[in-house]
Amino acid sequence: MQETFDIQAFADVQRLIVVAAHPDDLETLCGGTVTMLTQRGVRVFSVNCTLGDIGTQDAATTRPALATTRLLETEEAAAILGIEQVHSLGHHDGELVADLELRAQIARLYRITQADTLITFDPFWSGQIHPDHRAAGQAAIDAYMPAKMPLYRPEQLREPGAGLGCLQRVFLFSTDREPDVFVDVSSVYETKLAACLAHRSQFPQDMKSLDWLQGMDEEHGKAIGAPRAESFRRMMVW
Ligand SMILES: [Zn+2]
Repeated sequence: MQETFDIQAFADVQRLIVVAAHPDDLETLCGGTVTMLTQRGVRVFSVNCTLGDIGTQDAATTRPALATTRLLETEEAAAILGIEQVHSLGHHDGELVADLELRAQIARLYRITQADTLITFDPFWSGQIHPDHRAAGQAAIDAYMPAKMPLYRPEQLREPGAGLGCLQRVFLFSTDREPDVFVDVSSVYETKLAACLAHRSQFPQDMKSLDWLQGMDEEHGKAIGAPRAESFRRMMVW
């Protein structure tokens, strides 16, 4: 049987960077784990590759207006979770590509934040239907190695506080490729839900909008006999 791990998998984390595609990805997929880590004093940096500027069925709104709304919602959610910084890379929702520009943007943040741990999407899960999720995960992993090399984009290293990338651990979420870390988030679930609900543009019906999420977290919880859990797959890196 596969060995599984709990929150102790994050025991040595001091600085965590989460690379997501859209505002609300972090909150829904690892908001509980992030809460437990910030409560422990871990510094958390959130990265949204896109503006989330097509996330509506209201054709009367505009993309810039929606982007502004979603940035404000992201800041509100970050305050609830104890996240230190929110970075938006400004790409258009639904059009994210894991190209060299995106790789460099993410590598720069690895260098500036000096994060030791990365959480991102599993780009290798064949069931990942959202192209932005696949691209964000791919670019985040692709930036891991160049960020550690001094000849890669050396101008980034001259920014205040920047140093060579020092990531040591990678955890992938949104995967069904044999997740091996299950974090019981039951004790902080109210905080997770509050952060999710800060995204009012996405969840306008309050808790009713989050039935799917609670169902998913309950399903993850079954693997470890907990009411609700978040799951990850550890990626072996060196
Ligand atoms: Zn998303």
